[in-house]
Amino acid sequence: MTQIADTKFKREAKRGSHDFNQACQVLDAGKVCHVGFTLQDQPYVVPMAYARLDDQLLIHGSVASRLMKSLASGIRCCVTVTHYDGLVYARSTFNSSMNYRSVMVFGIARPITDIDEKRSSIQALVDHLMPGRRLELRKSTIKELNATSLLALPIETFSCKRRTGPPSDSKSDLDAKVWAGVVPLELTAGEPVDAPDLLPGITRPDYL
Ligand SMILES: Cc1cc2nc3c(=O)[nH]c(=O)nc-3n(C[C@H](O)[C@H](O)[C@H](O)COP(=O)(O)OP(=O)(O)OC[C@H]3O[C@@H](n4cnc5c(N)ncnc54)[C@H](O)[C@@H]3O)c2cc1C
Repeated sequence: MTQIADTKFKREAKRGSHDFNQACQVLDAGKVCHVGFTLQDQPYVVPMAYARLDDQLLIHGSVASRLMKSLASGIRCCVTVTHYDGLVYARSTFNSSMNYRSVMVFGIARPITDIDEKRSSIQALVDHLMPGRRLELRKSTIKELNATSLLALPIETFSCKRRTGPPSDSKSDLDAKVWAGVVPLELTAGEPVDAPDLLPGITRPDYL
């Protein structure tokens, strides 16, 4: 595929990388991506669940989904994954910032139509999104598989960027009498809530 996306960093290039392993680390640490594409000159950015399987990103949706149908038709897309790791309180609004890790993957997604590949791709999604869950669930039916559209985007044209560490203040601000530093941010799971119609005697599995 001809590469059109410009992945060369211009601003804050020292924070950027094109290292595949670094991209995989960021991708594997997330569960939500934003899929960007353009239809009739109008850009859309749609949040979705995803999983990485080797060197491709997998997304799924209804066969009726405009996004899935559009991407399957071969239009270019950009999938972004972001983790915000901290609020960086500098001594000026100008230098205040965020610590983050992000990846952008560009390209054309391939529709997954083979039923066995569909099944293994759905398994990869479940394993990534809800580790441990799949072995307890019944197999997807053919009807369910037919109602599900799956796309694989190759992780070939991509870029990673991250900011870490304390504020970068201007020298002239260093004697300001205000607090400066970083408030770390982290996404954590809360206490599971049983389904109201849970069968009696079913306890919460360890993988929760
Ligand atoms: C959580 C978060 C908050 C941010 N907040 C701001 C903000 O408020 N203001 C601001 O200016 N910037 C912010 N950034 C940085 C922002 O994502 C851009 O990197 C920055 O604005 C430079 O954009 P540019 O188009 O000039 O980059 P350029 O360097 O011109 O981009 C060229 C190419 O570099 C790659 N690239 C650029 N940025 C990223 C990225 N974040 N991740 C992966 N690849 C990238 C892409 O391939 C892109 O096509 C934030 C980033 C994150 C993750």
